[in-house]
Amino acid sequence: MKTLKIEDIRQKISCFPRKSFIQRPTPLSKLAVLSAELAGPEIFIKRDDLTGIGFGGNKSRKLEFIIADALAQAADSLVTWGSLQSNWCLQAAAAARRFGMKPLLVLFKTYDLPEEYDGNLLLDRILGAEIRIKEARRGKVVRLEDAFGAIEEAASELRAEGGRPYLVSVGGSMPGGSMTKPLGAISYLEAFAETLEQCRERKIGMTHILLATGSGATQAGLTLGAKALAENVKVLGISVSEEKEAFARDVLAIGRALNELLGLGLPLTREDCLVFDEYLKDGYGVVNREVAEAIRLVFSREGIILDPVYTGKAMAALIDMVRKGHFKKEDKVVFFHTGGTPALFPNRRALVELLSPHYS
Ligand SMILES: *Cc1c(COP(=O)(O)O)cnc(C)c1O
Repeated sequence: MKTLKIEDIRQKISCFPRKSFIQRPTPLSKLAVLSAELAGPEIFIKRDDLTGIGFGGNKSRKLEFIIADALAQAADSLVTWGSLQSNWCLQAAAAARRFGMKPLLVLFKTYDLPEEYDGNLLLDRILGAEIRIKEARRGKVVRLEDAFGAIEEAASELRAEGGRPYLVSVGGSMPGGSMTKPLGAISYLEAFAETLEQCRERKIGMTHILLATGSGATQAGLTLGAKALAENVKVLGISVSEEKEAFARDVLAIGRALNELLGLGLPLTREDCLVFDEYLKDGYGVVNREVAEAIRLVFSREGIILDPVYTGKAMAALIDMVRKGHFKKEDKVVFFHTGGTPALFPNRRALVELLSPHYS
């Protein structure tokens, strides 16, 4: 197989329309105190929580390509869905507003948080996004067909009023609706190249990337990036919502679509899509003790705030894997901080209850 260079990848990506509105590259820093305390591999953090739209996060990277596509289609509104406290929905709404489009969000009650304006829901409201709240099964993600049905319904109302809505699936991950290509994943192929470049400059021999995985495009882009540029790097996705097989299938589907779109000719297989579902516990969005403790540990040792739904879970997984000897001492693990911090506030009760033994 011919090996690709970072420049080849950048060249291919530059053919896609993009609106540049985030801070790139995001910082890569060493978690020195945490690494020493865990006494395992050296741990680094890629600060994609500092991308700059709203409170930041991985969705902003994806939106640079998605917003450009919506504008190319002359859309005047962006219609999408997520859970009640969706980071994606907030960032999509903020990016839409920034480029003169009206956001319409269908928010599913996938967990038992109150519907009061708090966290991302408050921010959605401040932006003046049109919000429709729908019932859903607790602890599970909404099925793609059901969710597309719900946004189709909302979009047809906008069309009836003469509007031109752009429909996009949760997380900007799975092609469908108006987004016919895996545009979200392109940005994480690029993020892999960006991280690899930072590691090379600083002579960090990255061996693993670990991230929270939800709708799949972040892991798909990073996994394809590793396949293209550094096959020795393992990309480990910690599932926050689905069982391993269902999830690996989505990552593979998005990764393959991206491979085809860019004509990379890489043989991406199921074995490349490493998903862990051991840390799902009570399901999507349900905060548990390990997550609360991971948030406390990283904040108190490194001054960095994680979120209770994604990055807290991924960090709890990393800590557990280090303790169980998953990594070698000489490994270099890059933890992707994908954002999500507004969700801390609506989860205040669970966090305080789970952490209270530390303060008594
Ligand atoms: C959406 C999200 C993820 C997962 O990214 P996907 O591309 O949807 O898999 C991880 N962390 C945070 C904070 C997110 O909002």
